Amino acid sequence: TKIFADRIGRIEVSATMAVTAEAAKLRAQGAKLVDFGAGEPHFATPRHIKDAAIKAIDENFTRYTVVSGIPEVRKAIVERHTADFGSNYTPEEAVFTTGGKLAIFNAIQVLVDHGDEVILPVPYWVSYKDIIQYGGGKVVYLETDEAENFRVTADAIEKAITPRTKAIILNSPSNPTGSVIAPADLERIVKLAHERGIYLLLDECYVYLQYTGALVSGGSFTDAKEHIIVLGSLSKTYAMTGWRAGFALGPKPIIAAMSKLQSQSTSSTAHFVQKAAITALSSSQECVAEMRADYLKLRDRILARLAEIPGITCTKPEGAFYVYPNVSAYLGKPGAKTAMELAGRLLNEAHVVSVPGEAFGTNNHIRLSYAVSHDDVEEGVKRMKDFFAKLS
Ligand code: PLP
Repeated sequence: TKIFADRIGRIEVSATMAVTAEAAKLRAQGAKLVDFGAGEPHFATPRHIKDAAIKAIDENFTRYTVVSGIPEVRKAIVERHTADFGSNYTPEEAVFTTGGKLAIFNAIQVLVDHGDEVILPVPYWVSYKDIIQYGGGKVVYLETDEAENFRVTADAIEKAITPRTKAIILNSPSNPTGSVIAPADLERIVKLAHERGIYLLLDECYVYLQYTGALVSGGSFTDAKEHIIVLGSLSKTYAMTGWRAGFALGPKPIIAAMSKLQSQSTSSTAHFVQKAAITALSSSQECVAEMRADYLKLRDRILARLAEIPGITCTKPEGAFYVYPNVSAYLGKPGAKTAMELAGRLLNEAHVVSVPGEAFGTNNHIRLSYAVSHDDVEEGVKRMKDFFAKLS
């Protein structure tokens, strides 16, 4: 008899797992790795946020809460969003989730039915396709142009829409490329989705890590609110990845359905995490600006160093904390036929952790996270340069 349900067969373990496991093995053997693999801030969670959680635990905020998050945390989410982006959400249009990933998962599960199409730009963050497939949806991949900085355009989206299109997922700034959708294109995409009755799922977990111009959120298009779902996270903004704190903003019935799903799975996030999130969202945002300023310096540093490696080209990220260099000049050689093999050798021979582009739907790249120290950027790219010199 069959053990597993069909739905679990529709997803794979994250493609980054193989590299992570290999890196752990080397580390256990005492290797000093430079880790450009992990997609998380190298900063500690700011002191005032940690203090808020400690205080909350001491005061016994350690029980279940309402599933969608206590009213104060939902208020803090919408007030932060209104202040920063001019949106007009109410607390009933917000749900607090156990990480941004759960917000994405729940939004897709409540919207996407068998056979529904979801448009997903490539390169994509690893989990979207699996989450869509888990829900029975059909992923419609939308290629972007590296020469255009992998930018998603309204024209391309329009061409990909069919009568079966239920939703579009956008991730700006993007993981893995750091690409940001041009404001004019975002406006046109919002209009298009609204007119056609298609849901726009905006994964904005890097929204505060934009380096050019003003910070932009799709949630500020209040006229099209009916079709917009903002998926947010405190993970990257406040260096809180392990706290599991995320949220969604959207139409009341969709938020209610997401809460219903949550009520039969995770229930609420820890009460003291919600308390800490209120502090993060409603106190001074100076820590966010400070971290952003350092990421920008790190970006410029890693781009400058990578440019010194012959044959490697790299688009200039406008946000997030990843670079996505094109390594095709070094591919096809024995032992380095694919980016996957190249990343394996880079790890084993140079002790540099990267994630091969296959994980994000492209074949000629590796992803490097520069949420590391400046010393690690210098050391890691130096090792890469020596490794590639020997390879060529
Ligand atoms: N979306 C993107 C694009 C990400 O890179 C990540 C984390 O790496 C997430 C969502 C999920 O973040 P979290 O679940 O920690 O909020």
